[in-house]
Amino acid sequence: PLDIFIYSLAQTNGDHSLDTQLETLNYLKSLGFKINPNNVLAKDTQEVIEYHARWIHSLGSLDYDCDGIVVKVNRLDYQQHLGTIGREPRWATAYKFPAVQAQTRLLDIRLNVGRTGSINPYAILDPVEVGGVIIKQATLHNADYIESKDLRIGDWVVVERAGEVIPQIVRSDKDKRTGTETSFSMPRMCPSCGAILANRKDEAATYCTNSTCPAQLERLVEHFVSKSAMDIEGMGGKVGISLIQSGLIKDVADIYFLQREKLEQLDRMGKKSVDNLLRAIKESKKQPPERLLTALGIPHVGSEISSLLLNKLASIDNLVVCNQETLLNIPSIGPKISESITEYFSNFDNLNVLEKLRSAGVNMVSETVSRSEGIPLLSDLRFVVTGRLDNYSRTEIQDLIKRHGGKVSGSVSKSTDYLLTGQDGGSKLTEASRLGVQIISESEFETMVVSN
Ligand SMILES: [Zn+2]
Repeated sequence: PLDIFIYSLAQTNGDHSLDTQLETLNYLKSLGFKINPNNVLAKDTQEVIEYHARWIHSLGSLDYDCDGIVVKVNRLDYQQHLGTIGREPRWATAYKFPAVQAQTRLLDIRLNVGRTGSINPYAILDPVEVGGVIIKQATLHNADYIESKDLRIGDWVVVERAGEVIPQIVRSDKDKRTGTETSFSMPRMCPSCGAILANRKDEAATYCTNSTCPAQLERLVEHFVSKSAMDIEGMGGKVGISLIQSGLIKDVADIYFLQREKLEQLDRMGKKSVDNLLRAIKESKKQPPERLLTALGIPHVGSEISSLLLNKLASIDNLVVCNQETLLNIPSIGPKISESITEYFSNFDNLNVLEKLRSAGVNMVSETVSRSEGIPLLSDLRFVVTGRLDNYSRTEIQDLIKRHGGKVSGSVSKSTDYLLTGQDGGSKLTEASRLGVQIISESEFETMVVSN
């Protein structure tokens, strides 16, 4: 059965004078929402530590899995002030329980090829229960990791699972060795394509050197079409693999040149699925450029870094011409990321893929820029939204403000530039007039965006 606890309130209309996390929980409870009864207001860190310690021994009393407690700052104005970094709030932190461990045999060490060509060893384990879950495999990261822990095939090993994290091998039990255990050594050739493997300087991982390695392409296509990247439904898993195996996709840009007749000849592809697939591919051309950048799968450049870069640079082309120095001047970009980006865009094959994507009509420019030729309309203006709007939901209006370069915050302060108000503005309206913040209506906002 599916069940839920409610922990926070995103927005209220009017003034309910909720000042703390605890008041919020009690208010939610009074409205009939199900809240977690296991919460406590701690006066200091010591009380948090004691609460955590008490729970380690009482987890069995819960009828669900639980891997830790969450510690939150109680005062909501402090929460607001502390803010968030990326998706991580600075006013809340997870305090995990110690990981659960178990002993089992390491039966074999196998390899898979990652999307950047890294050869990733993983352990095949004699299935063992760890904290209620049967574990059959564990990651081994790279050859150095295996060597530093002196893991041998046939060893008894201690495995550990913390929360939903991939199980890890903590150590091997050397006392239980019988002499029949065998050491692992990295092969010299890629298990997928047979190309020579190589190590890069300052990196523990071993890489396949073949840029057209089919195993790498499979991983890359899977990543390219995934929800957080280009989001092409119907292209993941088996479809992607069969397109690669049949030679229809040799690089990710080929996705945009797939032809109906060829697709219909594939196994398990009826007319309907081909229609849907082609539509999803076409739709994905309009994705914002930060998604394309994420999709390219450049090492160390995930969705958060991609958004940050495109916010700053506004187009993929501006990024391609950046040298390391320019990149390092962007806050949050360190040498690892800047090196990875410049290396990627200095590779001829990668530039070729980019040109193919462009010729297919894949979007490479941020909307903010294409509309206003370089200067975001609401650049650095701070907005607070209150009340019911006629033409936009709360998320829609927030997206619109952000797309034009503005910032949205939850409460009115001296640094707020505009309070955008709909019907029933409530306490924020009073606060804005008290602080002398400019108050605008929905239609005034629209004029602002359009007339610019
Ligand atoms: Zn290979």
